[in-house]
Amino acid sequence: MSQRPITQAIRTRVDMTNEMEHSSPVFFTSSFTFDNAEDMRAAFADETDDNIYSRFSNPGVKEFQDRVCALEGAEAAYATSSGMSAVFASFMAILKQGDHMVSYNAIFGSTHTIITKYFPRFGIDYSYISGNDTEQWERAIRPNTRMIFLETPTNPGLEIVDLEKISALAKKHNLILVVDNCFATPLGQRPIDFGADLVVHSATKWMDGQGRVLGGVVAGRSDLVHDIYLFCRSTGPAMSPFNAWVLSRSLETLDVRMERHSANALYIAQALEGHPKINQLKYPFLKSHPQYEIAIKQMKSGGGIVCFDLKGGLQSGRKFLDGLKMLSLTANLGDARSIVSHPASTTHAKLSESERAAVNITPGLIRISVGLEHRDDILQDILQSLEQC
Ligand SMILES: *Cc1c(COP(=O)(O)O)cnc(C)c1O
Repeated sequence: MSQRPITQAIRTRVDMTNEMEHSSPVFFTSSFTFDNAEDMRAAFADETDDNIYSRFSNPGVKEFQDRVCALEGAEAAYATSSGMSAVFASFMAILKQGDHMVSYNAIFGSTHTIITKYFPRFGIDYSYISGNDTEQWERAIRPNTRMIFLETPTNPGLEIVDLEKISALAKKHNLILVVDNCFATPLGQRPIDFGADLVVHSATKWMDGQGRVLGGVVAGRSDLVHDIYLFCRSTGPAMSPFNAWVLSRSLETLDVRMERHSANALYIAQALEGHPKINQLKYPFLKSHPQYEIAIKQMKSGGGIVCFDLKGGLQSGRKFLDGLKMLSLTANLGDARSIVSHPASTTHAKLSESERAAVNITPGLIRISVGLEHRDDILQDILQSLEQC
């Protein structure tokens, strides 16, 4: 009987020896030895899948990749040093000079930088789209369009893109659909089930779950993952064996952690909705969310992020951060400890007011990554700080 994905994410392991430690070892080695010249020749000729060098593959990294495949329902996966190297490798391995990409406009800041600053240098063109009007998406497609890229829910605005509709559009025009699934995690949403070709992750966030290591992974169609693997094998953004070991252990608790993160986030969102200091609050599983119907169709839970807009704007945003006694002010998200951020004065400060408005980042926008502390302690800290702004 084949095991269910959650069990595979806990039980899958790669072993080099017959004597097995119950916990997987860390494969701290840069290269692997061969018994004879013929075995070594065959490995280099890709006739066997023996490990050669840790820039190409490493048993512990493979364990992490296999577990992600199980969770995402993917054919293959390749793990990278960070989420951004996973995003970058997906672009570089698939796109070439003269190609065009259609991308959702509200995407992670560094992804936006790759597209707007570096794509033009390599002769790759792009169009940004917002909203879920598929006709608008379709109008952006050109004869040289090769890829659709999107993130859902988006960071930090929590906009939801309809995976079923956009997948159908990608299939119709023979385009490769790549989805950044960092915010939902494979426990919250499986884009491949809706027709996505590739899923990319920042494993740094919810997958790690305790803010310890950087990591990234690309999972999906084996032919595309193989191209990404070949690109990475030559360019070098491999995941460290130690980070792979940490992240494989993290996947064993991802299901229970995401359940609690989502339950805590829903509780906080419900408690804060309608607060006199707040204009608009967003959480994918609240009926008031503009894309609630799409969220409940494609997501199993609402995830751990809540965002709201403070009536007092920029000054209130800064006051809110200063008034917090427990929540951490840090650039990460997806941690056991609750984290707050104020995009307009930090991550998105370099954008103009109108650029921020285009991706729904208002001056008073606050993003909360709801942790695993007792939900009333999280709420209490937020409420006492709201009093002061
Ligand atoms: C953090 C993040 C990334 C980048 O990941 P790193 O591990 O920091 O390189 C990409 N996409 C989203 C949605 C993220 O939140």
